Amino acid sequence: MNKRRRIYEGKAKILFEGPEPGTIVQYFKDDATAFNAKKKGVISGKGALNNRISEYVMLRLADMGIPTHFVRRLNMREQLVREVEIIPVEVVVRNVAAGTICKRLGLEEGTALPRSIIEYYYKSDELGDPLVSEEHITAFNWAAPQDLDEMMSLSLRINDFMSGLFLGIGLRLVDFKLEFGRIYNEHGDVRIILADEISPDSCRLWDITSGEKLDKDRFRQDLGNVENAYREVARRLGILEDGEVIELTEKKGFAS
Ligand code: UDP
Repeated sequence: MNKRRRIYEGKAKILFEGPEPGTIVQYFKDDATAFNAKKKGVISGKGALNNRISEYVMLRLADMGIPTHFVRRLNMREQLVREVEIIPVEVVVRNVAAGTICKRLGLEEGTALPRSIIEYYYKSDELGDPLVSEEHITAFNWAAPQDLDEMMSLSLRINDFMSGLFLGIGLRLVDFKLEFGRIYNEHGDVRIILADEISPDSCRLWDITSGEKLDKDRFRQDLGNVENAYREVARRLGILEDGEVIELTEKKGFAS
């Protein structure tokens, strides 16, 4: 691992140069941050769980015809992905009010939204990822209008599919964040594909019956039992049924 060239280190992942041109290795860390990195911590086992959960969801989305950067999982903490030109816009899809929309619009957490709502945030750690409009995105050329249309339509399809997927395992998909990238073919034609990760770090998932939060809000809000929440999501997805043990420090909680 150490011999490979490190391309980028983010809050929860490290990107290394991949084994062949046009590929990248995504290494999932146990580090967690919240509130624009003002809160920092370690969730032991999180990296391995997110690697598995994101692999599973990306493969299911690919089955549905959604183009993704995922190639294959390499080991416990690493996956091979296609190198993309990241579009500096985070797409958030919301089904139920939670997090920043509650504060911004004075909504009570848990309020069902009249329809799924898409929001865009400009990816900038310095600025704290500000909420932006389509106008900002196209005027500043972060994405072309047709790229943005594609990102929006992919995001809505992903929301439909993932809402059903999680509902099937007793979880409400409250909201989630996506990132997209561009790839170019030999003729220079551009294609938009899903990048980054899909995991309880980037989704809000609530148990349908108990309302229990099984996502990063357990870390953000100091609810405890964070590792086991991530593990429970993986278990319900059927990812951990082969007896594989992902080492965690805590052993209690969330068995259903
Ligand atoms: N989210 C994320 N990364 C970010 C900001 C948000 O993955 O940098 C996810 C977050 O986990 C939630 C959704 O996007 O599932 C909406 O987040 P929100 O805008 O409510 O902000 P937060 O409460 O995460 O600060």
